[in-house]
Amino acid sequence: MKYDILAGQSYERKFDYFFIPPVLFTIVSLTFLLLWHLKVTPAWQWAAGFAQTALGFVLSTFPLEPFFAAFASGLVFIGAAYCYGSGLMAHFRVQTRRAPRLVFLSVYSGLLALCVYWQQSLVAQLFLTDAGFALLLGWSVCLVVRKASRPIDIALVVTTSIVVLDSVVRVIFFTFFTNSSNDFGDFASSFYNLEVTVTTITICMFFPFTALGASATAAIERHRQAAETDELSGLLNRRGFWDAMSNNFGRSTPQGSVIVFDIDHFKRVNDTYGHSVGDRVIRSLAQEISRLIIPFGHAARFGGEEFVAFLPRSSVAEARAIAELVRASFAAKDWRTHGLTYTATISCGVSFKEAEADLGQAIDRADAALYAAKAGGRNRVMTEEIASASTTIDTQRAVG
Ligand code: GH3
Ligand code: MG
Ligand code: MG
Repeated sequence: MKYDILAGQSYERKFDYFFIPPVLFTIVSLTFLLLWHLKVTPAWQWAAGFAQTALGFVLSTFPLEPFFAAFASGLVFIGAAYCYGSGLMAHFRVQTRRAPRLVFLSVYSGLLALCVYWQQSLVAQLFLTDAGFALLLGWSVCLVVRKASRPIDIALVVTTSIVVLDSVVRVIFFTFFTNSSNDFGDFASSFYNLEVTVTTITICMFFPFTALGASATAAIERHRQAAETDELSGLLNRRGFWDAMSNNFGRSTPQGSVIVFDIDHFKRVNDTYGHSVGDRVIRSLAQEISRLIIPFGHAARFGGEEFVAFLPRSSVAEARAIAELVRASFAAKDWRTHGLTYTATISCGVSFKEAEADLGQAIDRADAALYAAKAGGRNRVMTEEIASASTTIDTQRAVG
């Protein structure tokens, strides 16, 4: 037996909670608009999607010309699905597949016009809107599902899937298990409209709030990364280095080796060739450090043309060998293509850090070794033992 629950006469509207979804979605839309204006979220599509959903509720609930209301609300709901999909894909940095989705929208709009103005069937219009909404948004969910790893991103995918599922259940239930009125004028007071409102208020409201949470989390993450990254070299900056240390090792860093790198006579590069050539030379060193150091440890630009690396569990001999590799490959670059007429070189200082020792002090000792390398003629790697041994010999010579 089929139930006649789409027809208006079977349901008497007592309390006007129909205003709740449009009001809530308008507030969410305005919030997203503000976040987009403040450059917190890159996607304006969220604001557009929630505004369209609010408009869809207004069109389908208030007494407008029924054919126009049916056609326009079908269009804005599918437009909302398109915008949510774009917002999701922008959030997860997935290619937006705009062309095929726009083709889908055009075909859908044509079919919607046929259902409303030619077939004049409310059931067909609702079927088409729910099915189109579920397909278009479900498609986007499938494209992003593997990208979700943060808890809030997983929550966003789950709540979006619930919205899709809600449409699927509704399309099946109201199309195949009910005797529904085909009269567009019955829609506003129908059980269908009641069901949409109730599920929206109870479960689908999680969707805008997880979207807000995911956008805010992504923005905070982006700003944190920017604050910890050196713009010129792309490596960590000093703050990022210390944060990476505490994130990876907690309070006590393991034993390992420290390397400090500094470009030789860099002031001359700036003075002779200009600052932009100097910047290019700094970037070249950063590239070598990324390539040769990052597989073994952490590296950062501490300032100017000075870089620091920490290689956990590496001996001084290993660190020295790696520093030597960086030094040699930097000197071997074709500097003419960088605009220099001579070979740019670097000097490096290496120190060892015991498990319980302070990393800052190990950096200071590597720095002292670096200055010994500079004093020794530059373009070389100096370890702290050799540096202190040569200082001792020099002192003995001076005393002797
Ligand atoms: P040394 O061989 O003793 O290291 O001599 P140096 O000339 O390299 O001396 P130092 O290391 O003190 O030079 C640092 C210079 O780096 C000073 C500053 O003008 C330049 N510098 C600092 N930051 C930047 C930057 O972001 N871009 C450029 N182009 N130059 C920078
Ligand atoms: Mg220098
Ligand atoms: Mg320097």
